[in-house]
Amino acid sequence: MDPKTPIEVLPGVGNLYSKKLKKLEISKIEDLIYHFPFRYDDFSQIENIAKANPNEKITIQGTIWQIKNIRTPRGKFLTTAIIADQSGTIEVIWFNQPYLTKTLKAGTPVSLSGKLDPKSPRPKLIAPSYEILRAQVAQFSSQTLHTGRLVPIYPETEGITSKWLRAKIASILPFYVKTVTDFMPLEIIAKENLENLGAALTKIHFPKTYQDVELARKRLGFDELFLTQLAAAIRKRQWLSQKIAPQIKISRAELQNFQNNLPFTLTGAQIKALVEIIADLERKTPANRLLEGDVGSGKTVVAAAAAYATYKNGLETILAAPTEILAFQHQKTLRDIFSPYGITVGIWTGSKKQKGDITCGTHALLSTFQAKKQVGLVIVDEQHRFGVAQRAKLFMEQKSNLSPHVLTMTATPIPRTLALTLYGDLDLSVLYEMPEGRQKIATYLVPNIKRQGAYGFIEKQVEMGRQAFILTPFVEPSETLTSVKAAKDEFEKLKSKLSKKVKLGLLHGRLKSKEKEQIITKFKNNKINVLVTTPVVEVGIDVPNATVMLIESAERFGLAQLHQLRGRVGRGKHQSYCFLFTDSKAENSIKRLKSMEKVYIGFELAEIDLKMRGPGEVFGLKQSGFFNFKIADITDQKSVASAQTEAKKLLKADPKLKNHELLQQKLESISSEYSQPN
Ligand code: ADP
Ligand code: MG
Repeated sequence: MDPKTPIEVLPGVGNLYSKKLKKLEISKIEDLIYHFPFRYDDFSQIENIAKANPNEKITIQGTIWQIKNIRTPRGKFLTTAIIADQSGTIEVIWFNQPYLTKTLKAGTPVSLSGKLDPKSPRPKLIAPSYEILRAQVAQFSSQTLHTGRLVPIYPETEGITSKWLRAKIASILPFYVKTVTDFMPLEIIAKENLENLGAALTKIHFPKTYQDVELARKRLGFDELFLTQLAAAIRKRQWLSQKIAPQIKISRAELQNFQNNLPFTLTGAQIKALVEIIADLERKTPANRLLEGDVGSGKTVVAAAAAYATYKNGLETILAAPTEILAFQHQKTLRDIFSPYGITVGIWTGSKKQKGDITCGTHALLSTFQAKKQVGLVIVDEQHRFGVAQRAKLFMEQKSNLSPHVLTMTATPIPRTLALTLYGDLDLSVLYEMPEGRQKIATYLVPNIKRQGAYGFIEKQVEMGRQAFILTPFVEPSETLTSVKAAKDEFEKLKSKLSKKVKLGLLHGRLKSKEKEQIITKFKNNKINVLVTTPVVEVGIDVPNATVMLIESAERFGLAQLHQLRGRVGRGKHQSYCFLFTDSKAENSIKRLKSMEKVYIGFELAEIDLKMRGPGEVFGLKQSGFFNFKIADITDQKSVASAQTEAKKLLKADPKLKNHELLQQKLESISSEYSQPN
């Protein structure tokens, strides 16, 4: 059976069904086989009718004695039946399925799973799942599919029920399993103690026991991790073999001079990262490194040092930021840093285009920017905010045959495990410590009844000359009209709630960039005391005089994101505060938000959130194509590590996968599904 056969060829899957199946991303036989249950109903206990316990989900098996439809006074159909086994008889009722009398005729052997009516004096099964007992499903170790076993429940869509999926999968699985050859090398199967593929696929759909489910998940989850790691390792090798980067050299003395001109001493972590990056730049192979560091850990200056080295070698640097605000801010920061050297820092956004020795910009850099000479270094700030496609473009498209070195930066505190999975082909540098003298931002989850008190606190801070942010959440995943409206509404409300002396400003992503710039400048100059804003301020905005960050509907944010937002204050010498508000009463939300009061390390908060919400939620990456795993748990450090080890070992022994043709084919066939950004 060819796994790539279109699903339409299956009996009973016409045009109509295949359209519906597309919604579940099922278009080939293989997709159906890889459409896994997300849970199982445990109907595995088959009982005698006489012993049926009213409080349990039960399965009974017997013969239909009689079955008939009754019309209720309200015009609905009831189907009632009497079923008998050796121990006794039981009444069964179904609602609004009059066709049942045609499928389940008297004399038919049936299996029924469901619950007994607790109110009925005599045992009575209410709307159970049913199926006719036949011999041919015996290969799934039970005569039944929909009853009397661990019954798989699938992701469904309109018009496609679990029952339908179960029947279709059961009809092709035995053939599929018989013809599929396992692509996993035997050594790995043995070493990792894995099921073979056929057994795993059978067990995930039609397990005998929960232990079967575990075994199946272990194997199929390993497949996902292993194939991802293998693909990443191959990509990395290609990246290294095909591309030549300009070698960028800088002397110790020059680097020291750069450091001496800074208004502060670099932290140990910054120096370590810088050493790693400089070593990258010196190589002929293009660097592909991720620089990770908490908000305020000082990534910019590390990147600036790399840009300085690049400049010294007669090459340009571009720095791409996810928003225009950030691009302008980087331009300003870099201008300050580079003023001693006469290095020009340009800007390249939708609205302003000016080339420099180093050019900061937005994704406009990708579409319209052409270097004066040769770009030696591409720096991408907050890289996870760039779409996968955009990023690929940034890295790949160079007119000359020289590829630039790539340094991506993120403040998202991705735990090392996750980084390993996400960016198996990147090198990683982490700024694990903060510059000295950073203060703790006093954080409180404020009950709504104390809201006016919080406003009073902000007024006092403003009287003392300080400033505040009031943040309304994105209502949708990114800046949309709805979020803008939320910010506008809050702005209007606050006009009446806050003292007239407080000068309010409103900032959101839908403003023209000129307006945005004006508002930010006003805020920086304290012409605006309190800035009402959507999370466009999340990254980067540096206003040391701001001391309060008030966040509405805080439960909508991941903890790591809240931590970043909180990092917008406490950047100066004044004690700073973060007030979190929520309307949520959910225990889980409260617990999560409470941890902000105690934990001040981004990485730790990310770990907490990972455990409580899962990676997709935490990093807002669900839609961005990062997580294509159906089964694998990428927070499971051990599995991730062993998948990576095995992948590397295999490639070392068989670099071209010459002796692993099946694996090679598998990789090719899934490369679109698992393809990761790099
Ligand atoms: P992030 O990692 O969040 O991008 P930045 O690069 O914006 O952080 O740095 C935050 C602030 O810390 C900036 O004002 C920067 O000048 C300052 N800074 C960076 N490194 C140091 C250091 N080693 N000592 C003191 N201040 C530093
Ligand atoms: Mg930054």
